[in-house]
Amino acid sequence: MKIAVFSTKTFDRQFLEAANLDNQHDLAFFDPHLNKDTAILAAGFPAVSIFVNDQADATTLEVLASRGTKLLALRCAGFNNVDLKAAEYFDLSVVRVPAYSPNAVAEYTVGMMLALNRKLYRAYNRVREGNFSLDGLMGFNLHGRTVGIIGTGRIGAIVAKILQGFGCHILVYDVYQNPEVKALGIKYVELSEIFTSSDIISLHCPLTPETHHLINTDAIEQMKDGVMLINTSRGALINAKAVTKGLKSGKIGSLGLDVYEKESDLFFEDLSDTIIQDDVFLRLTTFPNVLITGHQAFFTEEALRNIAETTLGNINEFEKTGDCKNLIRVER
Ligand code: NAD
Repeated sequence: MKIAVFSTKTFDRQFLEAANLDNQHDLAFFDPHLNKDTAILAAGFPAVSIFVNDQADATTLEVLASRGTKLLALRCAGFNNVDLKAAEYFDLSVVRVPAYSPNAVAEYTVGMMLALNRKLYRAYNRVREGNFSLDGLMGFNLHGRTVGIIGTGRIGAIVAKILQGFGCHILVYDVYQNPEVKALGIKYVELSEIFTSSDIISLHCPLTPETHHLINTDAIEQMKDGVMLINTSRGALINAKAVTKGLKSGKIGSLGLDVYEKESDLFFEDLSDTIIQDDVFLRLTTFPNVLITGHQAFFTEEALRNIAETTLGNINEFEKTGDCKNLIRVER
């Protein structure tokens, strides 16, 4: 099948081309994000593949459908950037990679907690400048601390398991109770208890209308003083302005972000020669107790191989049967 691959990076090309050795697809790689202006590039391509910061809104989908696209193949798990109702209306099927490597994201999340707590990012810079002072580098033991996990699907469940190994007390909240997590002896609690009782809060739920700005002023006010907040899920789970206020007042003791609400203008690009216009983002980068990375939690060899193989597998299945086990269906 002819596949237009949007938001192509070197690693996408490398892993998709390797996965395509067992297939006969005709892959065309495009650097830009998919949006209403770039959708025309996919004219005549029955399949279009996109990633987390592409915008598959109704206008974009209409352009794709009117030029012959039948399948939108996401190279990611989250699908908050796709207007599913519009896709259905324009007779476009949407498939995704539901779990390319939950371990990659879970391990990264715990790495972020450790780096932030023990200020490894500050220590690294200090030592390179011959500054061996320990002032400002004090952390706390994870052992015995309470960690609240919001969302106990594939990633959240692994984070819970890893942190149990550290001797943390785990509290979890989800709209659905995962039997695997319950089997670990972990307690499901109300969201308010996660906020009031946790020393560390880690977000692992999808971005939906219900979870949009889940971490807002009201939620932050309920949290323990000095709470550590980690978001490796989706940027808009957090209201960045409310979090900035929480950091300024000291309510939030530290913040680790691998995602950011307006990341599509920033992440995955080298902007070191440009003037970044997003003042909210720039303010966040000025705090010594904030660690931000550019959506790299998924970025392991295993995950990239899995993404490429599953994406092409989804396209093969759709081509043969008109259906796919990883099809995203519109909820009614
Ligand atoms: P998953 O679907 O396995 O789990 C998500 C869990 O969230 C489910 O258990 C679901 O019931 C729960 N949930 C849904 N609505 C909720 C709500 N209102 N409140 C609390 N919980 C709710 O997904 P996953 O594979 O564990 O991924 C979690 C998120 O991580 C994804 O949605 C994606 O946004 C993000 N992600 C980030 C990266 C990265 O590189 N940073 C990579 C992959 C996934």
